[in-house]
This record gives sequence, C-alpha cells and structure tokens, in this order.
Amino acid sequence: MIVITSNKIPEDQFRQIVNEIEKEGLQVHISKGTDHTVIGLIGSVDPKLSEHLRQMKGVQNVVKISKSYKLASRDFHPENTVINIKGVKIGGDNLVVMGGPCAVESAEQIDEIGRLVKAAGGQVLRGGAFKPRTGPYSFQGIGVEGLIMMAEAGEKHGLLTITEVMTPEYVDICAEYADILQVGTRNMQNFDLLRKLGTCGKPVLLKRGFSSTYDEFLNAAEYILAGGNPNVMLCERGIRTFETYTRNTLDLSAIPVLQQLSHLPVISDPSHGTGRRELVEPMSKASVAAGADGLIIEMHTDPDHSMTGDGVQSLFPDQFAQLLKDLEKLAPIVGKTFNTVKAPTVDFQRV
Ligand code: PEP
Ligand code: MN
Repeated sequence: MIVITSNKIPEDQFRQIVNEIEKEGLQVHISKGTDHTVIGLIGSVDPKLSEHLRQMKGVQNVVKISKSYKLASRDFHPENTVINIKGVKIGGDNLVVMGGPCAVESAEQIDEIGRLVKAAGGQVLRGGAFKPRTGPYSFQGIGVEGLIMMAEAGEKHGLLTITEVMTPEYVDICAEYADILQVGTRNMQNFDLLRKLGTCGKPVLLKRGFSSTYDEFLNAAEYILAGGNPNVMLCERGIRTFETYTRNTLDLSAIPVLQQLSHLPVISDPSHGTGRRELVEPMSKASVAAGADGLIIEMHTDPDHSMTGDGVQSLFPDQFAQLLKDLEKLAPIVGKTFNTVKAPTVDFQRV
C-alpha cells in the first residue's frame, strides 16, 4: 500500500502519519518527489489502518498495491533512480556505455581494451573474471587475478569497472575490486546471491533470466533492494525463443515496459541479446531509441581468438568507436545526455 501526501504539509503532520504506520509494525519507505511524497508500506495492512490513514490530515490518497514487488515498483518510487558512481550518473536523462571483453584474459589485454573503451568515449569497462559457462570443460575465467587486472586498467584509464559475481562467497572480493557487480542471466534467481548483494555496498547490474517474465525479473531485483541496496540496474540481455538464427531474442519491449513498471535504470545488452556482431550496432541504436539508460557491449581487439565463444558477438574497437560517435547524435533526440570523454588521437584501425 502507498500513502500519498503533498510536500507542503508541516513536518509534524507528516511525522504523525509515519508514526501511525510504524506503530503497526510495518516497514516504511519514503520517496520524496517534486510535489508529492509517497510513503510505501511493506507488510500486511489491516483495512482499519488504511481507513484511519485516509482520514488523517495531510493525506491525499491511499492506494493498495497488488504487485508482489514493492521497492522496485514505480508506484513506491515515482521518480527515476539515478545511481551516481564516482561522478558517472546512471539513470534519468543520462546515457552510459559499458564496453569490454567477455572475459579478462591477461593484464595486457584488459589494459589495451580499457584504453580503447576510454578513447571511444565509454564510461565503464566490462570483463568477466569468473565466467558462467554452459559446459564444465570450457574456460571458466581467470578468477581473482582477473579482478585485480581489471581494477588496475580501470584506474589507469579513468573508467568504472563491472564484473560478474556468481556465488555469495565471492561477493566481498568482487565488491572490493569492481565498481559494479553483475548478476548473470543464469543466476537471476539465485536468491542467496541476491540476498548477499543486498548488503554488498556496491551497485548491481541484474541481468534478466533468459526465460524470465518481467514480474520474475522485478521480484529478483526486489531481493537486492529489500536487503538494503537501492542501487540496482536492470539489464535486458535477450530471451530464449523459437528462433535459432540469433543466439537470443533481444526483447526491446522490455525497455519501455520495465521503465513503466519500475524506477530503476534499464541497460540493454545487444551482444548477448543477438549473439551476432553485425546486429550489435543496429540493436544498440534501437535500444537507445526505445529509451535505454545504457548499453553493455562486448568489444575485443582480437575477437577471433577470444577465450570464450563470445568473439563472434564482439565488436572490433573501430566499430565500437563509430557506434559511440553515432550515439552522441542519437542521444539528444531521445532526451538523453551522453557525457563522453574521448581521446581524439587514438587510431582504431584493425591490425
Ligand atoms: C556476459 O556478460 O559475459 C554474460 C555471461 O552474460 P549473460 O549472463 O547475459 O549470458
Ligand atoms: Mn559474454
């Protein structure tokens, strides 16, 4: 349930409303907008309390929320969430681009790709140190060493870093080295992991499970929010359909739907969403046109020799740089600011 008040009511009147709710042992979440404040109630609400609140001075409306997720819903939090990480804003009117390899392969590799991501105007360096692979014999990532290499590359090139965490035991070490923790599609409903991320102190990018509904996706986000971490981004990365030409089907509708249902930033992953390099550029642009708050894109200097199978969906650095140039033109058309810092002298040509 939510209770809506005007922002103009006196402080003691507002406090009284909150006290009446807390007296009943319910959890209160306050979201202050420009004109109104929304008081979100979590717990089962006695109809007598809702009637009593409706009669109280200063209360404009009392609305029952039937969705199972609360903190993730726009009803509870009407304003867009903007996550500020070391000055980089994610959400609201901002467009953010995260780029990098599927996996961290060596210090030289992540350093060189970091240099190119920065030069092209990206703000976040991606790269997996722990890789969730479909088969147990495939390359599983280089582990903690990879986290260190990526943190060094991020620091050196002035980029934030994002990396995947697969188990609750590794949350603390990943949080020590990376700026954003990624939950992969296969782990979207790993509830122990989600609970642990609620207290990790770092923003989380939660990927949609490849067979999950929007409702399941938002409930997964709710686990992290309910644990006390308000900094969650939702990532559409393609779902499994009958089509086999593409690796997944990037569900573009997810972008506006999630933005209607939730206040959390929505990021699109056209790399895993299509699995094909030639589709990454058009689907990146389509995602931004649909309102995405950011993109996470695989880019590799030598995709044919990438250590995961994801080279086929990785852009070459020159393609990545060209895409970001185009996004600079597209962003203002859809009301977004793309704050890029480029190094204009870099040569992106393929060797
Ligand atoms: C990845 O980002 O490299 C990855 C494994 O993504 P997903 O969980 O979407 O497959
Ligand atoms: Mn990948």
